[in-house]
Amino acid sequence: MDFYGWAQQWKAYVADRSSIGEFNYRQENQAGCNAEAELLLDGSPHRHFVNLTSNDYLGLTQHPLVMQAAKDGIDRYGTGAGSSPAIGGHYAYHREIEQGIARFFKREDAIVYSTGYSANSGTLQTVLKKEDLAILDMAVHASVYEGCQLTNVKTFPHNHMDALERVLRLSKDKYRTRMVVIDGVYSQDGDLAPVDRILELCRRFGAYLMVDDAHGTGVIGRTGRGVLELHDLFHEVDFITGTFSKTFAHIGGYVIARKEVVDYLKFQVRPHIFSATLSPAAACITKAIALVDEEPERIAKLWDNVDFFKSGLQQLGLDTGITQSAIVPVKIGDISINAKICGLLLQTGVYANQINYPAVAKKDARIRMSVTAAHTHEQLDRVLDAWEWVIKKTGLKYRANHDTETQA
Ligand code: PMP
Repeated sequence: MDFYGWAQQWKAYVADRSSIGEFNYRQENQAGCNAEAELLLDGSPHRHFVNLTSNDYLGLTQHPLVMQAAKDGIDRYGTGAGSSPAIGGHYAYHREIEQGIARFFKREDAIVYSTGYSANSGTLQTVLKKEDLAILDMAVHASVYEGCQLTNVKTFPHNHMDALERVLRLSKDKYRTRMVVIDGVYSQDGDLAPVDRILELCRRFGAYLMVDDAHGTGVIGRTGRGVLELHDLFHEVDFITGTFSKTFAHIGGYVIARKEVVDYLKFQVRPHIFSATLSPAAACITKAIALVDEEPERIAKLWDNVDFFKSGLQQLGLDTGITQSAIVPVKIGDISINAKICGLLLQTGVYANQINYPAVAKKDARIRMSVTAAHTHEQLDRVLDAWEWVIKKTGLKYRANHDTETQA
């Protein structure tokens, strides 16, 4: 069978799942990236849904100054960058973003990519080759796995320090370069990496460290600098990576490293040198970075919302796992029931994501909700009411051993 056959099979699968309300992906939103989404769903009494799918953690995509900065960028430069950075597509707004994000992390230099995905995958493809070893927490983002296709890979169970130490000890002196790659905040469970302990192990065994803090930036730490702020490790990590598509309200990715390494990446990373750069609307990123400091009340509001929402879910007896961030999962543990619950939430005017295999193991299926500073308590209360209704309707029960079961 070739791709035409696969497409036919996929079509039949989607039709089958859709017919029983279990395919709830790729909904078309008529409104902006906001606390409420506007979805036109067949047969739904709702048009406006509380939106828990966005990673716009500080609500900056709708900030008038961020929107104005994007418009100013277009007014000054037009709509496109025209080419890749080495051959004409490098503008003043790119330099300003690079300087802004490097300063944000108290470092000297950064390189900007078109997506967070290519920041990870392109950088890793460039710095790790067949003589080297990438040591990955099993739960790192897909972009990291993709970046390691040209090198050797060993994984360790999520946040398992003894296992990491074992991999580091057993691989010592067997490779040219060894790099441990972790997320700061993990995107499915919302928990944090113990970066200080991981750094200590890297130092002890002579390995480098890359931290992707896509979900921690703007969220974790007193001033929103992410997990590195918790232990003041900005200068200790070899690569800090992240995205402009979450807290920074646009699109694009970045890598922060020592200046000579950044200068090297600028002319070696294939998705950077062979792909056009961020368009002029990206000028808004510089404003979004500044607003993290200029409006600290946004981080406070985010955490007020997270605490309010999480404790509400827990009072309902739901299992929110081990999250320490703005990602709030409700563990369901069964793919089909998870999909049904996502459909039921939509019926009550709540738009959340069903996370299933292969994003997580089949037994770890969950509804994932992202809280932002833009949510109101009234909206979050509506979500809690929806969950209460789902619990009654499905018989979803929570057991003390953190398994979730249902009679649905
Ligand atoms: N890293 C992590 C941890 C992510 O969750 C994501 C995207 N969700 C990315 C990288 C990729 O970022 P982008 O969407 O900007 O490509």
